[in-house]
Amino acid sequence: MNSYFKPVTRRKFLKTGIAGGTIIATYPVWKLFSFSAPPRDFYVNPAVNLSKETLEKLIEIALQRGGEFAEIYIEYSVNNQISLEENKIYGAGRGVDMGVGIRVLHGEKTGYAHCDDLSFEKLKQTAEVASFIAKEKNIEAPEGLKHSKIPSYYMVNVSPDSIVPQEKTKLLWKANAIAREYDKRINQVNVGFADTNKKIIIANSEGKWVEDIQTISRLVVGISAIEGNRRSRGYAYKGGTLGYEHYDEKLAEKLAKDAGRMAIAMLPAEDAPAGEYPIVMAKGNCGTFFHEAIGHSLESDGIRKKTSCFWDKKGQIIASEITSLADDGTVPGARGTINVDDEGVPSQKTILIENGVCTNFLYDRLNAKLMNAQLTGNGRRQSYQHFPIPRMTNTYLMPGNDDPEDILKSVKKGIYISRIGGGNVTWVTGRFVFSVPEGYLIEDGKITKPLKGIQLMGSGPEVLKNIVMVGPDLEIWGGGTCGKSGQSKPVSDGNPTLKVSKITIGGAKV
Ligand SMILES: [Zn+2]
Repeated sequence: MNSYFKPVTRRKFLKTGIAGGTIIATYPVWKLFSFSAPPRDFYVNPAVNLSKETLEKLIEIALQRGGEFAEIYIEYSVNNQISLEENKIYGAGRGVDMGVGIRVLHGEKTGYAHCDDLSFEKLKQTAEVASFIAKEKNIEAPEGLKHSKIPSYYMVNVSPDSIVPQEKTKLLWKANAIAREYDKRINQVNVGFADTNKKIIIANSEGKWVEDIQTISRLVVGISAIEGNRRSRGYAYKGGTLGYEHYDEKLAEKLAKDAGRMAIAMLPAEDAPAGEYPIVMAKGNCGTFFHEAIGHSLESDGIRKKTSCFWDKKGQIIASEITSLADDGTVPGARGTINVDDEGVPSQKTILIENGVCTNFLYDRLNAKLMNAQLTGNGRRQSYQHFPIPRMTNTYLMPGNDDPEDILKSVKKGIYISRIGGGNVTWVTGRFVFSVPEGYLIEDGKITKPLKGIQLMGSGPEVLKNIVMVGPDLEIWGGGTCGKSGQSKPVSDGNPTLKVSKITIGGAKV
């Protein structure tokens, strides 16, 4: 990474919260199937545009010792971030990265090599290293490359990379001022804006040659409030595969007020009761639960290796019959949205659970090949330095028919989860613990007191069977950054209002 501006560490920046914003799952039809064009003003280093002849030559070299499949992945990416803390611009960073990853597949084996020098000599060496896993002589000639066009699901007109930092700081200052005005008990405000702009080119031995420009942006406001010895936190954000035209000072003001509302609402929170209770999850804010506690267990690597609790469950009932779960990389503007995955496979909507039955898993090329399954467009990698693995995109519980008001009214005593926080999940068993940054007591069908220290405990497979009501009001949120096998990837998730008949709450009050 070459940086100018004062760098901020990733960890520091992410501290302000995860990214995102609400995206209602209605599709702006005008945007679908427009062919992908680079967003305005995103400068791409022309060195990444290797010629057809160079790409074909590299594929040939990669397959010189055999192997069933070879692929070239080229990336040029620019990351920008700027943050405000304690009434000052705390850090600003810009990183540019460029490189090529070359992969050869041979049975269960993967040969992978990468380099950040795009001279032919270095690329040739890289292809040779990747080729070493294969040793067979029956070599099939690779297909000639054919350029494929892909539809675009991004909502990007103006690249955030074309906006100077001074312009972006106006959003930060606005949010900071509004949040501090919101209530005198607010003692800390952190605001951050970040964007990633990436051009990828993928060419493979099956003749596929595709390119995409992927832009992800977010504005995050995090707030702390204090009153006597009580402390609370609030946050709000908007983000997705969105261009800079989606951000202005009005939005910064709205996010500051939303974060302020949450922090002040949670100040008088009492200790949560411990025990088993029915819970209601608010629309849009609890999708992380389905991503973490269910979605990871439906990724095909764990299925193939039998390390997932669902490895032998395809075609079987694993949830209540009102439960359906999807992963959909085509939701316009959502944070996990991709036109193609990092293996050049078009993005799609995959139904994982339909009316309680486990119907499909999420595949990358290697696992699809070894399991004799159809590709689903879920082969994703963090960068050219990583080989693809099966990953989610936008994962959500699909809408049902229960009136959200009836859902709440049906609970005599229970817990209302406004949003799910961080968690810990064992994918082998699906056992989880999640914190709840905003939750309330439900008494006689009404939301009453705010609660602190709520811990949701249980197992994903158990919760799936206890989903007893699902509303029609699906919202897909910004989500955040998912980590798996040392690779980070932007994802999103969502849910309609729903009721789970019982979950164990670990709270301070017995
Ligand atoms: Zn994850």
